[in-house]
Amino acid sequence: MKITRIETLVCHARMRNWVFVKVLTDQPGLFGWGEATLEWHTRGVVGAIEDLSQLLLGEDPTRVEHLWQMMWRQHFWHGHGIVRSTAIAGIDLALWDIIGKIHGVPCHKLWGGPVRDTIRLYCHLGGGSMESFYETPVDNAKRFAELAQQALAEGFTAFKSMAVPSTMPIEGLKPIKAAEACVAAMRQAVGSDIDIMVDCHARPSPAMGMQFAKALEPYGLYFLEEPCWPESIDGLAAINAAVTTPIATGERMTHLAAFRDLFAARGCEIATSSANRFTTTNRGVTRLCRRGSGSISPRVR
Ligand SMILES: [Mg+2]
Repeated sequence: MKITRIETLVCHARMRNWVFVKVLTDQPGLFGWGEATLEWHTRGVVGAIEDLSQLLLGEDPTRVEHLWQMMWRQHFWHGHGIVRSTAIAGIDLALWDIIGKIHGVPCHKLWGGPVRDTIRLYCHLGGGSMESFYETPVDNAKRFAELAQQALAEGFTAFKSMAVPSTMPIEGLKPIKAAEACVAAMRQAVGSDIDIMVDCHARPSPAMGMQFAKALEPYGLYFLEEPCWPESIDGLAAINAAVTTPIATGERMTHLAAFRDLFAARGCEIATSSANRFTTTNRGVTRLCRRGSGSISPRVR
């Protein structure tokens, strides 16, 4: 069996494009789908997939680990840059899809079977409206409370919000108080039985992230996500040590060594590894978590 062609399909998805990867084989009707979405890097990822395909054409698609190593190591540069790692992950996912189809099983059967019979879901505030999630101003605490009640009415027991504004590396109390008011309004609106998460999108500096984390600590967040710049493992570790709120991060990390360093510094309690970026790598992250490094909150973008 051989890989004969690798195609990309770009879909307009409003605030970004979705990028899908189709790996075709010489077996009639046998192909695999993967996803390699990387917001605002569409051409880079599509080009990287085209470059990587030179390594894969004519290869056996079922040798996933071998092909992953080739894609990671070949052509001088390793694959940890965000564009290439996303391209690798999209192809990798499509290869797993092919193996699943060959054996007639879902991929989880190839990876040891399901661990849980059910999973708990949270929604983004706004229930799928990206504008509600990304563009609700943090000086409108009342709106955050309304959206929180809406999530509750839709049956969710947990939701995530962007209740922290973007800030300069150092700012005064105003953004801290605004974030606190939003979280306080949401907590008051839904009570203590509902879990609230706040995603800072890695925008605060370590100094501002520390202030946000301390101000929001009394509201019992389920987790506080990316409270500071992702490259500042020291900053993440300091914040994680300073508050009881579990810190989540990792969606911008592209390889296992980065997670190893993050866990070694106790930079988070929850690894938020993106399934469509690091499929084979994710299995390693899961194993690191299982060794006592933390929990994992997988997501598909
Ligand atoms: Mg996030």
